[in-house]
Amino acid sequence: MAGFPHDYHLHSSLSVDCDVPMEAQCKRAIELGIRELCITEHCDWHPLDMGVGYYRPEAYFAELERCRATFAGRLILRAGVELSEVHSYHAEAAALTSAWPYDLVLGSLHWVDDMIVLDEPYFAQRSATESYNRYFAELAAMVRAGGFDIVGHLDVPKRVGFRLFNGYRAEDYAEPIQDVLRACVETGIGIELNTSTYRMGLGEPSPSLAVARWYRQLGGEILTIGSDVHHPSTVGSFFPEALDLARAAGFRYLANFEQRTPMFTSID
Ligand SMILES: [Zn+2]
Ligand SMILES: [Zn+2]
Repeated sequence: MAGFPHDYHLHSSLSVDCDVPMEAQCKRAIELGIRELCITEHCDWHPLDMGVGYYRPEAYFAELERCRATFAGRLILRAGVELSEVHSYHAEAAALTSAWPYDLVLGSLHWVDDMIVLDEPYFAQRSATESYNRYFAELAAMVRAGGFDIVGHLDVPKRVGFRLFNGYRAEDYAEPIQDVLRACVETGIGIELNTSTYRMGLGEPSPSLAVARWYRQLGGEILTIGSDVHHPSTVGSFFPEALDLARAAGFRYLANFEQRTPMFTSID
């Protein structure tokens, strides 16, 4: 297949932790034959997060419109955002997403119990089982509260837990993960295959094949792929692997989004 339907999770210099200009990400996507790009800057509200107060939607939409004009006819640019802990900041999230014309809203859980699940202290006082079960329980609550379209990097604690606990198997957490997935199906929220964990050497996306398959078997249909790129420039990295995995999990389509409505694109 020529090219890729989309890269629906990546960052640019309008995110607190990224210094790649939006234009550079667009150019790279065009070189790779990616047809749609959704740059999903971080929007954080947790008081301890380094990104609090950084996100400016007016700057994002101005830059997006500039890039849309520059790359018209070569790249479809969707408007997106990655919201953290949507359930804890529901009013803030609703105010933002009703005020601005987003095509896609990612909901990501980065903070649990006032600790960031991407740092070792979160795991310090807990076993692997406690660490993951606590995260998945909170994620299920976030999905049930709604207000977003796609769960970002569904099993993201494995970025650190994989190393701390000598690997990670989704099958060991089948029950809490399937509860998250049932909540997704009930609320019409989709999942993504986030390829950042391939780049970290885990050999699988977040989440893995087993999880994508469970979601499909439970009736889930809304799947996107995102590289979650922060640095120059791994846009679209491990997408052939992610597409193969999507097909192996039983998906025949990816969901492209416009005005927060999924449209299905064949990956046969
Ligand atoms: Zn994230
Ligand atoms: Zn991200």
